[in-house]
Amino acid sequence: MLALAGVPLGIECVGLEPVSDPPMAAVSDVITASFGDRSALGELIDRVDVITVELEHVDIDALAWASERIAVRPSVEAIAISQDRLREKQFLRRCGLATAPFDVDVTGFPAIVKTRRGGFDGRGQVRVTDEAGLRAARAELPDPIVERVVSFRRELSVVAARSIDGTIAAYPLVENEHRDAILRLTHAPAAGVSRAMAAEADRIVRVMLEQLGYVGVIGVELFDTEDGLVVNEFAPRVHNSGHWTMDGAVTSQFEQHLRAVCGLPLGDPSPRGFTAMVNLIGTEPALPQLLAIEGLHLHRYGKSPRPGRKLGHVNVNANEPAALAAQLARAGEIIG
Ligand code: AMP
Repeated sequence: MLALAGVPLGIECVGLEPVSDPPMAAVSDVITASFGDRSALGELIDRVDVITVELEHVDIDALAWASERIAVRPSVEAIAISQDRLREKQFLRRCGLATAPFDVDVTGFPAIVKTRRGGFDGRGQVRVTDEAGLRAARAELPDPIVERVVSFRRELSVVAARSIDGTIAAYPLVENEHRDAILRLTHAPAAGVSRAMAAEADRIVRVMLEQLGYVGVIGVELFDTEDGLVVNEFAPRVHNSGHWTMDGAVTSQFEQHLRAVCGLPLGDPSPRGFTAMVNLIGTEPALPQLLAIEGLHLHRYGKSPRPGRKLGHVNVNANEPAALAAQLARAGEIIG
């Protein structure tokens, strides 16, 4: 989707991807190699002006090596922090932002034991309710951290971008619903957001972007609690909860990321009406029926079906929340 967004801008992307025939190959050249392959990275460096990432689990030493030879945006440091849940939480604490109590602060239950590295979509974490469970989870998970379970009303996120000159553009707060720990639905903008909450989300993401000296799009996952917004984690890349922007915002997050990392002015992040994004997970639904729904836009990734795999998403767009709810209900019946 990043490479696709580059086409009308005249920005050519070249991918470095360990898996052969990735979706990106439909629009771009792809070098098939591991992220740690220095000669493949060398070829990439020869062919492009800037390197960015669309997932954070890359070989950080190789990326640091590349950054001595070419601009890497966002910075290797920002990506390294996001790879390690302990460093990430410590960073958030240094920023003065609210997080779940973690590590040595965890004295009670329920708690969540998470691997410091490599976990995503709920993998690599175990909920525990007593000392015995805690000991078992610590033994099972490699290099874990422990967090207290945060009691939240709902999960929100904010996607924003910072340009090289420090300009920040934030999309509105969105609400996210998960199924089996995988993002299933995003409502954009989130309903019931007070001015104070919107301002707090804006403050949170600004502090993070500025402390990191960040360039590019970031996704910040938040818990909406009685005591205000609590930061769960951040992703140093375009974010699944920002996919709605492809059809529901003046500038998509993909175009925005390319603008930022290429040193161009940022685009307008304003929403256009009301949008719901539904991930297509595991199987693809009946597409003609889906496409008959008003205001629905389909994005398929060209991936083969597998349980739990994100195969695409739809964005359903409407001028009014009530109309969106009706269209979304129809989409939900087809998608399942
Ligand atoms: P994560 O991998 O940290 O994004 O966690 C995946 C999901 O687990 C989140 O979207 C939340 O639903 C839940 N979760 C993670 N950490 C906590 C926490 N400290 N308290 C409550 N729920 C959590």
